[in-house]
Amino acid sequence: MYNEKTSYLKDQVAFITGGTSGIGQEVARLFALHGAHVLIMGTNEKNAQNTAELLKKTAHLQEQQCDYFLGDVSSAKDVERVQKEIEGKGFSVNLLINNAGITRDNLLIRMPEKDFDDVVAVNLKGVFLVCKAFLPAMLKKRKGSIVNISSVIGRIGNPGQANYAASKAGVIGFTQSLAKEIAKRGLRANAIAPGFITTRMTGSLPEKTIQLIKEKIPMRTFGSPDDVAKAALFLASDVLSGYITGQTLHVDGGMVM
Ligand code: NAP
Repeated sequence: MYNEKTSYLKDQVAFITGGTSGIGQEVARLFALHGAHVLIMGTNEKNAQNTAELLKKTAHLQEQQCDYFLGDVSSAKDVERVQKEIEGKGFSVNLLINNAGITRDNLLIRMPEKDFDDVVAVNLKGVFLVCKAFLPAMLKKRKGSIVNISSVIGRIGNPGQANYAASKAGVIGFTQSLAKEIAKRGLRANAIAPGFITTRMTGSLPEKTIQLIKEKIPMRTFGSPDDVAKAALFLASDVLSGYITGQTLHVDGGMVM
């Protein structure tokens, strides 16, 4: 049974890509509240600084309990640099939350090749690069949990999101394969497929579209970043989900059953 006051992640170090906004920021806050040291990564320094400040206030963090790193998850050079910076600071990451993601929506016949490539590069290749950079140390320690943020769109598709759906479906297959590779070394990998969550990513949808989407959600409402963060906490914590790996947890108000 979940207990708000239990330090499920005491003495653990979590690396959260896209921890500077929306879902990732809430994952960082919840993980910190449950005792983890959180390391967040994004591309925008101002957002990262603001998040670090916010976490210190709202998660009652000690000064040393949160660090931010700037870089692009789709760049092998950036990811390797950030991993080395983290190692250099003496952190031993045992929780990876691959959450950074972008959309470039358009109907397929109008979709520029670059928009397909960019979305797949950040949403899918970024997950590969981060896992590749951080796994060797995690495998040595024989301890750790990886949570990859996919999307309900990767399961059911959506007009105008062929690039995004392909990248998020890819994350599910990637996670299942990785889970099989690392299970015997004591590591777990799972995915979360959120439905429509109120963040910057869904913030620009016109009100009319929001109403149409809500009609298709059995629970008739968007989720909050906290709904996804709680699922991430569950999958990250060995205490809560130690025998669960290779799964995709839907946090979508009943869109996929
Ligand atoms: P968001 O508020 O826009 O946050 C996206 C985060 O990703 C930001 O912190 C952003 O940091 C970071 N990011 C983007 N490109 C990056 C890059 N190349 N390298 C490093 N970091 C990068 O969106 P969100 O809604 O919280 O989305 C978080 C994840 O949930 C995404 O993977 C998204 O696909 C998934 N998701 C969201 C929903 C939804 O309805 N909101 C539904 C299903 C799945 P900077 O701004 O600093 O670049």
